[in-house]
Formats: sequence, structure tokens, C-alpha cells
Amino acid sequence: MTRKNINKPDIKVPPELQHQVAVTTLDKIYNWGRASSIWPMMFGLACCAIEMIITAASRYDFARFGMEVMRPSPRQADVMIVSGTVTKKMVPQIVRLYNQMGEPKYVLAMGACASGGGPFKEGYNVVSGIDKFLPVDIYIPGCPPTPQALLHGLIVLQKKIEKEKLSTSEWYKKEFHEEIPVPLLGPDLMDPRKFSLYMEKSKTVEEDQTTIDISESSIGEV
Ligand code: SF4
Repeated sequence: MTRKNINKPDIKVPPELQHQVAVTTLDKIYNWGRASSIWPMMFGLACCAIEMIITAASRYDFARFGMEVMRPSPRQADVMIVSGTVTKKMVPQIVRLYNQMGEPKYVLAMGACASGGGPFKEGYNVVSGIDKFLPVDIYIPGCPPTPQALLHGLIVLQKKIEKEKLSTSEWYKKEFHEEIPVPLLGPDLMDPRKFSLYMEKSKTVEEDQTTIDISESSIGEV
């Protein structure tokens, strides 16, 4: 956002002060600061991560947009770029890292794998998109997306941030507490929120099994 965009056009600044004073709203200046310093978390999952690394390097250089500080700690990161194939083994760690990021936080699904499973969709070990677990703000198509596409996604995220309002932001509300239950990896992925449902289902299966056993044994007796 330029200085011109920050100024409220309906408030006239005297000509002698125009290069030194900007009159604006709290929302605009706050969003300008946040959108101009989005720090991504430093982690990658598969081939898409190489494109993300290239985007950070000198040719594309996303430092130009205030995103140069890739953080190795989720506590200091604003955006999680999910760059690569999300496996069932990795999802618990990704969700845990997301929970450890401070609000406001954003998620960018980079590439076909992170957005929907990609070429490995329906694979026994692959999750069909990170949006099954995390709220995704921006999806970037491609396999892999080019560095230009990632830059475009980040710019779209900046535009989204610029439209946010302090008065309606969820994360400043007292009652806001969004912790996503970390899925458990057993024979398959389990969502802790659905435990009672799993128990009910396993009971039904056990009962069915008993019925089959009884009827089979009675056939044997006859
Ligand atoms: S979308 Fe393509 S390039 Fe990206 S991680 Fe999946 S297979 Fe690799």
C-alpha cells in the first residue's frame, strides 16, 4: 500500500504538510503494517517447497513485500505456507504448529497436493487437502506452482489483510479461542472430536461380530 492509499481522500492536508503528514484511520495504518510484514513459517513438505525457496531467493526475492523473515518458530510467524504433499504422518505436526502460531494467522495452500491431494489423491498415506484440518485463506494452483504464482498468492493475501476491520476481527474478541484438535495417527487418522462416534461404530461392529459368531457356532451344533 502506498502513502497515497493510506491518506483519507476526504480529509484535506494543507499543501505545505502534504509530504510529511498523513491523515488516516486506525484500521488502515494497522492493516498496512501487518500486510507489509507477513512473516512465513519456515518449513516445507515436498517438491513445492523448492519453489517456495526459489521465491525467497534473489531472482524473485519476496523480501520486496516485507516477507523476508522466514521464522523457524511458529510463535513468530504470521502465515503458514503449506508447500507440498500432506501425509497422514505429518498432519498432527502441522496442526500442532498451527495451534502454536499467534493470532491473527493465515494459511496458504501451495500447489495441487496441499489444496486437494494432487497426483497422490486417494493414496493410502495422503491427506486430500490441508483444508480438511485447517482454515485455508488462499489456494495456489499448480504442480508445482511457479514462484510468480506464489508471489501472486501472497499479494492476494496482503489485499485480504488490508480489508480487515479491527472492530469485527474474531481474534480480538474475548470469547475467541480456536484451538484445532490435533488428529491422532493410529491405523488411520482419527479426529479427537469424533471419538464418541468411533466408539459407537466399533460397538455396532462388535455386536454384529458376536451375532455372526453365535449363528456360526449354532450351525456347527446342528
Ligand atoms: S503439487 Fe506437485 S510439485 Fe507440489 S508437492 Fe505435489 S507433486 Fe510436488
